[in-house]
Amino acid sequence: MNPVALAIHGGCGVMAKLDLSEEEWQAARADLASSLRAGWAVLAKGGTALDAVEVAVVVMEDSPHFNAGYGAALNENAEHELDASIMDGSNFDAGAICAASRIRNPVKAARAVMERSGAVLLTGPAADRFAERSGLDIVAADYFTTERRQKALAAMKAHARTGTYAAASEAEKHGTVGAVALDRAGHLAAATSTGGYNNKPQGRVGDSPIIGAGTYARDGVCAVSGTGQGEFFIRHVVGHEIASRIAYLGETLETASHKVIRDDLKSYGIGAGAVAVDGSGNVSAPYNTDGMFRGWVTRDGKLHVASHGEVFFVETLEVPGAPGA
Ligand code: ASP
Repeated sequence: MNPVALAIHGGCGVMAKLDLSEEEWQAARADLASSLRAGWAVLAKGGTALDAVEVAVVVMEDSPHFNAGYGAALNENAEHELDASIMDGSNFDAGAICAASRIRNPVKAARAVMERSGAVLLTGPAADRFAERSGLDIVAADYFTTERRQKALAAMKAHARTGTYAAASEAEKHGTVGAVALDRAGHLAAATSTGGYNNKPQGRVGDSPIIGAGTYARDGVCAVSGTGQGEFFIRHVVGHEIASRIAYLGETLETASHKVIRDDLKSYGIGAGAVAVDGSGNVSAPYNTDGMFRGWVTRDGKLHVASHGEVFFVETLEVPGAPGA
């Protein structure tokens, strides 16, 4: 039987270890573990990688600890403009929304775009209206706002006034959530959702809804979800670049993903990270910042979560097809 695997990230816009209490770190790690359990439950019962990445992202969109859905970043006008995408590596189907402001779970709207619109990417109020027509949960725009993001916006505006943007912490700047999975049928999928970065210009669209940049999946090669300053992910077509290195140069997932995230993007001095899984169930989670919220369940069912250097083993989950499972 084919192995299954799942990896998630909650963004590389992670605070310095000492800026949050241990209780808050634990709460964020608990939400990462819940996301992994939700995705793994799908895979363990023979479900698709596509369903697994969607449910894993929904859990993080509903958590205030990450910059997507509830708790998303605010733009320069203190408004939310949400981006998300999803891709099915088995057939190159993909869907995305950008600059949406009323869809509770943007990743569900991306999935609906993929399956029901005939388009790949819907924008702004049209994306909101499409989601509503598709029967998805619609919320008031301030549903997404948390005190932490309001403070981050105020801090970024202060940095802009004083010309100290470079001194802003990664957490003040940005964040994203994403998931990648390999299912029992050998199919790969990826999904990504974000509020973008704090104080972003109105109408700015990042890499997260751009297929090939922030999200990419191709069966037999890899699935990738990125986090970091989206403009660079778009220019480097990061998801596709990692897949291309594997497909055409024969590099391993680890080598290709580290090369792009840690070497190519590091040279711009921007924060960057990604999670990726290949067709054999290998998982990689490179980042070049102090930390990246991340977690994975490997082929043997071992669930790990992390924010900074230390990786926490949480539990062993049921492995489909394993003796006793
Ligand atoms: N990639 C996201 C964007 O540029 C932000 C991030 O992941 O930190 O919108």
